Amino acid sequence: MSPARVGRNGALYTPHGRVNILRAEFKADFAPFDADCDCYTCHNFTRAYLHHLFKTGEILGMTLATIHNIRFIVRLVDNIRASIADGTFYEFKQQFLTDYYSK
Ligand SMILES: [Zn+2]
Repeated sequence: MSPARVGRNGALYTPHGRVNILRAEFKADFAPFDADCDCYTCHNFTRAYLHHLFKTGEILGMTLATIHNIRFIVRLVDNIRASIADGTFYEFKQQFLTDYYSK
């Protein structure tokens, strides 16, 4: 799926699958969306704020979710490229898919 398209609908990628920021559990969750992510969204905004932006229909929520999802894909492709270079692609692929679809 397109990272921008799913982001506009409130779905954000994580190493453990897609998460919908509209879920009620995020309403008062003041942690970064993904503490291990180095994107602008995760460095500057909380899960609760992203939840609020989507609940109120603020366009900024879509922008911030898209920034996170595109950064997630860029890091994933960087990791794929590195695993190909060092000959561990199949192990990387297996681990990524196991983690991503673990829920
Ligand atoms: Zn992020």
